[in-house]
Amino acid sequence: MKIALLALQGDFEEHAAVFRRLGCQTLFLRQARHLLEPFEGIILPGGESTVQGKLLRELNMMEPLRKMILDGKPVMATCAGTILLAKQLLDDPTRHLATLDIAVRRNAYGRQLSSFHIRGTFDDISNVPMSFIRAPQIEFCAPNTQVVAEHHGRITAVRHANQLAMTFHPELDGNTQIAEYFIEKICSR
Ligand code: GLN
Repeated sequence: MKIALLALQGDFEEHAAVFRRLGCQTLFLRQARHLLEPFEGIILPGGESTVQGKLLRELNMMEPLRKMILDGKPVMATCAGTILLAKQLLDDPTRHLATLDIAVRRNAYGRQLSSFHIRGTFDDISNVPMSFIRAPQIEFCAPNTQVVAEHHGRITAVRHANQLAMTFHPELDGNTQIAEYFIEKICSR
């Protein structure tokens, strides 16, 4: 299986290492022409959503990527990637890919709690390590969207058809369970 990683900014290398450990081939998406290559799933990594969005527009990658996701290509987004997928950003008129019916607040945990680490349940998997780094919060998701993880009543991961989005980083803890979930439940569905 070949997994493509948006590789404009952020921690795409860490995601690539996880998928390689699982035996996947990886492809870095750095230019629009890379979107024409064959692959089975896309990773939108954490980083800085404003920078990623700006580069996607400048490189003419926003619309083809958006169309690909709307056409059903499996996508897994973490942190800034989830901000790219959101149809609505609270207190912010910006929209990026806007393919997933969620409303997200950037940097929602404030300065005091800007980074923290927990172990939590993700769908049917328990004790998953989750690192939150200046994380957004999913404050609303459409009724047809499945909540797959929560922390203290806050939604931390959702799934809708071919789209899986989370507000934490699963790739920073040497744990492959979320990547395996993506391959098994989203790419192979
Ligand atoms: N705060 C970042 C943003 O708004 C996201 C942080 C992250 O990806 N760890 O884009």
